[in-house]
Amino acid sequence: MPTYGERNLEFISGKGVYLFTKDKKKYLDFGSGIAVNSLGHCNPKLIKSIKKQSERLWHTSNLYSSSNQEKYAKRLCLNTFADRVFFTNSGVESIECGIKMIRKYFYSKNQRNKNRIITFEGAFHGRSIAAISAQKNKKYMSGFGPFLNGFDQVPFDNNIISVKNAISDKTAGVLIETIQGEGGIRPADIKFLKELRKLCNKKNMLLFIDEIQCGFGRSGKLFSYEWAKIKPDILAVAKGIGSGFPMGACLASEKVSKFMIAGTHGSTYGGNPLSVSVGSAVLDELLRENFLKKVDDISRYLWQKLIELKKQYNEIVEIRGAGLLLGIKTRKPNHIINKMFQDNHLLTICAGDNVIRLAPPLIINKTHVDEAIRKIKKSLE
Ligand SMILES: *Cc1c(COP(=O)(O)O)cnc(C)c1O
Repeated sequence: MPTYGERNLEFISGKGVYLFTKDKKKYLDFGSGIAVNSLGHCNPKLIKSIKKQSERLWHTSNLYSSSNQEKYAKRLCLNTFADRVFFTNSGVESIECGIKMIRKYFYSKNQRNKNRIITFEGAFHGRSIAAISAQKNKKYMSGFGPFLNGFDQVPFDNNIISVKNAISDKTAGVLIETIQGEGGIRPADIKFLKELRKLCNKKNMLLFIDEIQCGFGRSGKLFSYEWAKIKPDILAVAKGIGSGFPMGACLASEKVSKFMIAGTHGSTYGGNPLSVSVGSAVLDELLRENFLKKVDDISRYLWQKLIELKKQYNEIVEIRGAGLLLGIKTRKPNHIINKMFQDNHLLTICAGDNVIRLAPPLIINKTHVDEAIRKIKKSLE
C-alpha cells in the first residue's frame, strides 16, 4: 500500500555502522532503521545465535513451554524492576498489552470506574486504534475514527501541576515516553519523573513507561527510567530489543501482572524461539562489562561535537535528547536531511518539531562520530 510514499534508496547489505547499495555506495547509518539496529548491521554474534536456532526449531506457539523463553524473561526481570514479561512482535503490541493490564488491574480490584489513562502531547505510542486514540495526534488520526475512549491528554511540559489537574476518580494510570522520540526528541526531566512516580503512588495510579525507542541501552543505561532512580509499574519495549529482529515485550510488576491470568491475553508469535535467540544475544552484549559505559561516553562525545556545531551554524536552533537519541532542531530540517543522505551519505531521521534525529547503533566509536560531524557540517554549508 502506498503508506510510505515514494522510496528511491535501496540497501542490499550492511555491516556494523554502514549500509551499502547495489552499486557499492557506502552510507553511514545514524538512524539504525528507526532506532532499531542497536548492535549495528549483521552483528556476527547475533548471526551465530539465530543461525543455530534456525537449524533447531522455529516455532511451537505459546501452547508449549519453552525454557529458553523463560530464561530470557527471567534475565529481563533480573535487570529491571519487572517480575513478569509478556512477549510481543512490535512496539504497539507492547502498548496494547500495557493498556489492557492497567484496565484489568482496577477491574479485578473492583474499582471498575477507574479506567482512564493520562497521556502527553507530542507522544507516539504506535499506529493501532488504541495507540492513536491514546496519543491524540491529529496527523495520525484523520479518517480513522471512531476512536477509543479513556484517554486524557496533558501538555508535555515537565510540570506536575498539568498532570495533577487532569486527575479524576476515574484515572487509572499515566502513560509516558521518558524521552519522546517521534515527537521531536524531548526528554522528560528527571525531577518531573520522580514527581510523577510519587503522584502515581499517592493517587493509586499505575505508571506505564514507553521505552520502545529510548530503551535497551540507548540512553546509556539499560533503561532510561534508571536515570531518575524510579521504577515504573509497566514498561513497553521493542525496537532495540532485537537489533532488527521484529520483537517486543511488555514488562510488569507482580502486583499488576497477576491479574493477566490464563486466557486474558495472547500472541501467536510473541516470544518465538527465533526472536528469543536474538533477544538473548542482544542482552548478552548490552550487559557485557563496560558496554553501557561506552555508550554513555560516546554519546557525551557526540553531544559535545553537536554543541560545537550549533555555535558555528545559525541554522541549528537547539541540540537536545539523551544518550544516543539526539535531536538537532533546525529551521528547515527536510532540506538538510536530503543534503545529508543525497550528497554526503549520512542517514538520519526526521522527527516532529523540525528536528533531525540521530539514533546511531550503540556500537559507534569516535571515528564514526567524527565522520558524521564532517558530513553534517558539509550538509549545513
Ligand atoms: C516506534 C514506537 C512505537 C511503535 O512501535 P511499532 O513497533 O512501530 O509498533 C511506540 N512507541 C514509541 C515510543 C516508538 O518509538
